[in-house]
Parts: sequence; structure tokens; C-alpha cells
Amino acid sequence: MIRLYNTTTRKKEPFTPITPGRVGVYACGPTVYNYAHIGNLRTFVFEDILMRTLRQYGYRTNYVMNITDVGHLTDDGDQGDDKMVVSSRKMNKTVWEVAEFYTNAFLEDAAALLLTSPDTLCKATDHIDDMIALIQRLEEHGYTYEAGGNVYFSIDKFPTYGAMAKLDLEQMQAGSRVDVDTHKKNPLDFVLWFTNSKFESQAMVWDSPWGKGYPGWHLECSAMSMKYLGESFDIHCGGIDAVPVHHTNEIAQSEAATGKKWVNYWLHGEFLIMADRKKMSKSDGNFITLQTLRDMGYDPLDYRFFLLGAHYRTQLTFSEEALRGAQQARRRLISLVQQLTCPCEGKAPHLLVGEDELSGEAMTLLMSFEEALYDDLHTPRALAVLWQGVKELKDRPSELLTFLERADRLLGLGIFLEKKTEEIPEEIIQLVEDRRVARKNRNYQESDRLRDAITSAGYLIEDKSDGTTSVKKSDTCVTKC
Ligand code: AMP
Ligand code: ZN
Repeated sequence: MIRLYNTTTRKKEPFTPITPGRVGVYACGPTVYNYAHIGNLRTFVFEDILMRTLRQYGYRTNYVMNITDVGHLTDDGDQGDDKMVVSSRKMNKTVWEVAEFYTNAFLEDAAALLLTSPDTLCKATDHIDDMIALIQRLEEHGYTYEAGGNVYFSIDKFPTYGAMAKLDLEQMQAGSRVDVDTHKKNPLDFVLWFTNSKFESQAMVWDSPWGKGYPGWHLECSAMSMKYLGESFDIHCGGIDAVPVHHTNEIAQSEAATGKKWVNYWLHGEFLIMADRKKMSKSDGNFITLQTLRDMGYDPLDYRFFLLGAHYRTQLTFSEEALRGAQQARRRLISLVQQLTCPCEGKAPHLLVGEDELSGEAMTLLMSFEEALYDDLHTPRALAVLWQGVKELKDRPSELLTFLERADRLLGLGIFLEKKTEEIPEEIIQLVEDRRVARKNRNYQESDRLRDAITSAGYLIEDKSDGTTSVKKSDTCVTKC
């Protein structure tokens, strides 16, 4: 049984899907006005672990993620600048070009981190009609009002507003800012459709029954999730910051439209914070990206390893020291896999075996590894079991290899992907050439010495029958095993 911490009840609950054997999951995707920072990526990695875990358990999953390419203001509460417009000015590109550029950048990051591809990755701008239809439904049920050209959702009409977030509405209303939009009947009401745009340069506008304009940003997740997953579905996830406003408003407008419970399990990932406690903000440009980490000499999957060392519901402080530790640990695993699979020196590589060929010890390890993930995605515990397996199965290479492969399928650390595609360095090419000359001159002592030098530098040479010599990087185990 999988157990997941549900933000709605603040408890770990046994997970039961609406339709047996199938799970619908919606994750709030990136806003594409800048690169994803490593904090954003932490949330996407947590969601990826969720998907891998559900699939490993045997569920058929339907995973939907959106791309927010319209209407995201710098403040969740309908205030501030339009982030896309700000970027388009800075980059001297149209908002559409900005969205395309950063959507592609996100997809590259997702691929580098081996994130599970959503079954549907949907852009807000492709679903304006669905959003308009949702507003019309809300209008029919009396949840909306028009003022100053905008269409608002009236939270007073929705008695359970803020229940998932456990908001203290009275205190929030009393503390709301004085410069709040004066058209709002309740300061916590939110915009469903803007026509009265304060941004003259707002380029993304569509016709609607309320005039030319654009949607409020909470709307897209309700419209698209219901389109692809149905009016009630199993799991909705996102970063913890989305609880009080974004997800609260998503619930209000979805349940008001359908009259049904919308989402059964709400999962939220905690934040990645910087050591100086400064908030990484996508809109002020002060943040670390995956490319920053590459430039520092790390593989994106080292970062993934670092993330999995912490449970997704605990805050995690970024530190290069910890990242370096993760890199070393990951390299250790890669080298172990390479040793186990190396066909060097005529030795047969160890092969993966089927579950029925595993010893009781290996099966127990595998089960505790999976149990850790079934227990609210406990990746630190899963990693501890992985290292335990490395130790306990060291004398059963095929079982160890199988265990590592199964573990990597769930953790996605890419330890089986590492291919030795490095270029052959100049010095090695020179040694090969010197050896060729030595052989030609029948100086076999020198040619043997050069072969040894090449081998101990970690390269394998092979003299072919046609007189040519091939050279390739060998596994580190070549001289040892
Ligand atoms: P955005 O592209 O800004 O909409 O953010 C994408 C995802 O990253 C959302 O689910 C946010 O809740 C989440 N997020 C934002 N900042 C952080 C952070 N520092 N740590 C973890 N997740 C974050
Ligand atoms: Zn959302």
C-alpha cells in the first residue's frame, strides 16, 4: 500500500485511487518567462519520484503538467507586473518568443534530470476556450461578478474557501493591503478574466464574452486538469508556496463549477533555500540554474542525487559541499556498475537476473527499498537501503547489479547510462603512435613498455588483423579485475 501525506488532512494517508489500478496526477508546471531555477527543479524532481513510484507499484498513470505562458503576475494576488511582458521587454522578443524559448529550456532541463515526461504537457495559451467555458459555468452558478471591466470570483459565495490551506480569512481580510484592487468586493476575491489591463503592451489577448482580454493565472490549472483528467481526479501537486493562493483559488473555482470534490490528495514539495536564506526569485534574476551547476563541474544528475538525500517535505539548504558529496557518491555507483558489467580481459560481464533468481537477502533489500518509497516517497531511506545493498550483496555480483538496476529505475540517477564516450587524449594517441613505430622497428621491448603505459593510463588497445590498432577507454577495473 502506498501512503502519501495529504496537505488537506495534514496526515499520511493510504492511497486509494478513484478508479482501481489507474491514477490521474496533475502538476503545476513552469512559468516560462525565465529559466527554471534549481528550487523549481526540486519540485519537479519530487513529482517525478511520485510518478516513478506509482508506476513501480503497478498503477497505470495519467500525468498532466501545464506550461504557464500567459497572465502570471509578479504577485499571486492579481497585483504586480505581467512577468511575460517584463521579460519580453528585457529580451527584446515577443512574448510568444519568450514563452517558446523558456519552454524549450525547461524541456532540456527536464531531459537532463531524467524527469518522467508528462502524458500531456499543455500550454495555457492553447486552452483559452476551455478557460472561457469554465468562467461561463461559474457565471451560471452565480460565483462571479464583473467590475471595472474584469470578471472576479466571489469567495464569499464559496463557503469552504481556504479549507485546504486552513486560511484564517478574517485575519487575512483585516490585514489585506489598502492598495488592493478597489473593484473587489472581498479583498481575497480573484480575477478570472482581465479586460481592464493596466499593461498597454499586453500582447496576448483573446476575444471573450466579457471583452478582449486574458485569463487570471489560477484558471488554467482548473480548466486543463479537468479537461485531461476529469472533474474529479486523484493527485494534484506543486510547490508549498502554491497552497495559500494558487491552489486555494484553483479548488474554489473548480468545485464551484462542478459542485463536486475536485482533488483527493494534495501533495506539496518543500522549498530549496540558499545558505544565505535569500529567496531565489525567478523574477529578479538572482538564482542558480542547472547550467550554473554544470559550469561548476557538476552533472545535473549529481544535483538530483543531492535532492534525493532529503525528504521532499523538509526544507533543504543548497550547499556546494553537499552537492560535491552527492557527486562523489554517484560516481562511486557508476564505477561499481561499470566494474560489474565490464567484459574486460576475457571475463564475462555480470548480467541482470530475474526476480525469481534473487536470493532471499536481495529480495528483502529490494522490498525495503520499494517500501521506503511507498512510505510517502522517502528517498533518504531508499538511498540508505541502496548503500546497504552495495555492502551486503558485494559477493553476489549479478544480484547486486540487478538490485542497483531496480533501484535506479526508481531513483533515476542515471548510473547505468554513463557511457565511456570520452575523447582519447593527445598523450595517449602519441603513445599509440610511438608504439606503432616501435613495432615497425621490431623494438618489442619498447612496444610492450608503451602498451603497459597505455593500459595503466586506463586505455585498451587492440591490434587488428588488417594491421591497424584500435584504442578505447577501458573501465577502471581493467587493471584490477
Ligand atoms: P514557477 O515556474 O515559478 O511557477 O515554479 C515552478 C514550481 O517550482 C512551482 O511548483 C513552485 O511552487 C516551485 N518552487 C518555486 N520556488 C521554489 C523553491 N525555492 N524550492 C522548491 N520549489 C519551488
Ligand atoms: Zn497550478
